[in-house]
Amino acid sequence: MFTRTIFSEDHEIFRNQVRRFVQTEILPYHAQWEKDGRVSRDAWLKAGENGLLCAMVPEAYGGAGADFLFSMVVMEELAGAGAMGPGFTLHSDIVAPYLVHYGSEAQKEAWLPRMARGEIIGAIAMTEPSGGSDVQNIKTTAIRDGDDFVINGQKVFITNGGNCDLLILACKTDPSKGAKGISLILVPADTPGFRKGRLLEKVGWKAQDTAELFFDDVRIPATNLLGVEGRGFVQLMEQLPQERLMQAIRATSVLESALEWTVDYTRERKAFGGSIADFQNTRFRLAEVKTQVVVMRIFTDHCMQMHMKGELDSVDAAMAKMFTAETLCECLDDCLQLFGGYGYMWEYPIARAWADARMGRIAGGTGEIMREIIGRQVTGTR
Ligand SMILES: Cc1cc2nc3c(=O)[nH]c(=O)nc-3n(C[C@H](O)[C@H](O)[C@H](O)COP(=O)(O)OP(=O)(O)OC[C@H]3O[C@@H](n4cnc5c(N)ncnc54)[C@H](O)[C@@H]3O)c2cc1C
Repeated sequence: MFTRTIFSEDHEIFRNQVRRFVQTEILPYHAQWEKDGRVSRDAWLKAGENGLLCAMVPEAYGGAGADFLFSMVVMEELAGAGAMGPGFTLHSDIVAPYLVHYGSEAQKEAWLPRMARGEIIGAIAMTEPSGGSDVQNIKTTAIRDGDDFVINGQKVFITNGGNCDLLILACKTDPSKGAKGISLILVPADTPGFRKGRLLEKVGWKAQDTAELFFDDVRIPATNLLGVEGRGFVQLMEQLPQERLMQAIRATSVLESALEWTVDYTRERKAFGGSIADFQNTRFRLAEVKTQVVVMRIFTDHCMQMHMKGELDSVDAAMAKMFTAETLCECLDDCLQLFGGYGYMWEYPIARAWADARMGRIAGGTGEIMREIIGRQVTGTR
């Protein structure tokens, strides 16, 4: 029997608070948000009031100054409840860290306290219609003009894109260079020329406001540059391991819940004079899922510990993301099968989890790109 040891009593107390919040403020509204294609602003404000946002941001900038594990409690509780709509963790643990690590004092003071309160929603935009894996070849430009940058281009598939108030934009400040021409720029959503396109209709993650974004002569003060000009690609590569670890943590929590739902269902559902759980096929499949999820959990917790010590590298993070995303998809397919026709009905959480999970093999770097990262290290090739 495997028992988790990485969380302290304080983390568990926080977990109970988050769980209550998810039960009362998220789950009753999630089906409506799926129809709307976005989570309500009210939910963001309540999440801020209840300390669910920007836990890791220093207290001086409105956060809790807590460790990564507190943030991951929020991730695990949302994922375990099947609530994929709220982009809280992207906002808190992907966007906010860029400001914390690379932002000027003025940028931190201007944005982080309002992000922690849920008044400002953050997003990050790398992917473009012409390609997402090949980040070095992005086409969006930010050309210096006096004290400003003038931005032109387009982004696609941006999580929190529909609701966002603040965007971290990856763009070329020197289009003649490859990776070394990329910079990150803070773009407030109310800047003239910045337009949000339609909310994209996705296979899963239906309550998430994933959107296209357009930039037509968007004039931004040069002081909105995040960090050093030309270091955007390096900054992205520095932050991606945490993002990929977070995806592994989410996948593991989803599968733990899905296994519970499937065990409950197969014990209750009757066929041929017994329960579905009585069939050897059911026990064998659930034995395999149980084994896979324990392996996922042990490796993911190990990676979390490494990350807490500052020792998680891009290869470990790629392995965690690739293995958990792919194992989740395989196991959810088996779980769904054990629900029979009900497994294919949207009202059943297993159906939504199955559709939501497919995204994990694509976003934040595809399975093929993860293999490239791991394979290059294994073979010692470039
Ligand atoms: C729900 C969702 C949310 C997202 N959120 C965001 C977000 O918030 N911000 C953001 O910037 N992006 C976001 N993305 C974009 C995501 O990161 C990209 O979709 C992903 O990186 C792949 O890029 P692409 O779609 O352009 O595919 P492509 O890069 O065109 O790849 C197409 C296929 O070719 C394969 N391929 C590409 N290069 C190689 C190679 N070198 N070797 C082998 N195979 C290769 C890929 O693995 C894939 O199978 C999101 C995507 C989704 C689906």
